[in-house]
Amino acid sequence: MQPVVIVGTGHAGYAAAREFRKHDNTTPLVMVTADDGTSYTKPMLSNAMARGKAAAELAQASAAEMGEQLGARMITHARVTRIDAADRRLHFSDGGELQAAKIVLGIGANQIDPHLPGEGADDVLAVNDLDSYTQAREALEHARRVVLIGGGLIGCEFANDWVNAGYEVTIIEALDYPMGRALPPQAGAALRSALTGTGVNVVTGRRVTAVERDGERLVVVDDGGERHPAEVAVRALGLKPRTRLAEEAGIEVGHGILTDRRLETSAEGIYALGDCAEVDGLVLPFVMPISNAARALGPTLAGTETEVHYPVMPVIVKTPSCPIQFYAPPAGVDGAWHEEELDGGGIRGLFQDRDGQARGFVLTGPAVALKAELVKQVPGWFDNRY
Ligand SMILES: Cc1cc2nc3c(=O)[nH]c(=O)nc-3n(C[C@H](O)[C@H](O)[C@H](O)COP(=O)(O)OP(=O)(O)OC[C@H]3O[C@@H](n4cnc5c(N)ncnc54)[C@H](O)[C@@H]3O)c2cc1C
Repeated sequence: MQPVVIVGTGHAGYAAAREFRKHDNTTPLVMVTADDGTSYTKPMLSNAMARGKAAAELAQASAAEMGEQLGARMITHARVTRIDAADRRLHFSDGGELQAAKIVLGIGANQIDPHLPGEGADDVLAVNDLDSYTQAREALEHARRVVLIGGGLIGCEFANDWVNAGYEVTIIEALDYPMGRALPPQAGAALRSALTGTGVNVVTGRRVTAVERDGERLVVVDDGGERHPAEVAVRALGLKPRTRLAEEAGIEVGHGILTDRRLETSAEGIYALGDCAEVDGLVLPFVMPISNAARALGPTLAGTETEVHYPVMPVIVKTPSCPIQFYAPPAGVDGAWHEEELDGGGIRGLFQDRDGQARGFVLTGPAVALKAELVKQVPGWFDNRY
């Protein structure tokens, strides 16, 4: 019997495998990954430095242990370089091939690389898995100063964690305040003041134009002409779903690998979920939507077609100096934010469209306790479109 082949052993790949096994214990299952297949919880990468955690301490199970739990054959350190979509054949970088009954792509996303000029640019790190976390941790071992290029969600989480770990942290953000794409102004100001309060040097309204080298040090240069010397620089400029493998196989891609609500791509029998996927128009690179997608994919792979359902799942920002939860309104919707500072502390922001319908919200500090109340007011992701 031909196997179900899952490519990728991140949260998407392993969650899909677990859910599949709940519905089918007999069909052969093969898991293929370019890394070593260690199972871990990626969100822990953004609060592990202050807790002094090495990558090995974040590992939950090895590939071999996962293979045993899932009744799966594990193929690690194997990169899929090509897929023949018509006969569902995978080709590996070492020349090997594998024929599948069904293929699941859970191949994640790349950190965006702006390809900055300068002699130090190649030494700018990006943290998106256990290996790159190890690299950053080793680099930080001998460092005092670190510059984070990008003040979005991940940049802010790293900044808060690394300042707590004792580093001098500068964060450089092109927008007017941290997390400027996701948050309205008052919430952004609260985050800025909390980060500043912990000792982070928050530089906003500036773009990094080059990363130069001065002996052992890097010098990050911004477009205001300011030079930020540091031993380590890390970029956190957002994610780009890995779509090339699918595109080259003739599978339709948009921002991510396009799927319908059953997680099936434009190629029959080939599915995608997780950071690489755009599910009925939505790219949701977060753990909970991936878990929901896997819960639908499990029965579908086992023969019972099932559509993904996304309840309202706010994003939790792990900045302990300013806890935040938000549910972003859809891009382009006509409406406005209404923010208020609550007596008990924290900010409550509600985004309402022109008809007065709540379409997004943000809560900071003690106001995060109001989450349940706001979750009831906004439509789920599929219904919250422009
Ligand atoms: C620092 C950080 C903090 C985060 N915090 C949160 C949080 O608090 N809450 C939240 O909800 N989300 C958070 N996220 C996002 C969340 O962790 C991700 O959405 C999720 O882990 C993505 O899982 P994935 O399996 O899709 O991708 P990945 O974990 O990136 O897995 C991709 C897999 O595909 C494999 N692969 C790729 N290409 C190939 C190929 N060609 N051949 C073979 N294998 C291949 C890789 O080796 C890997 O095994 C965070 C992300 C980061 C980086």
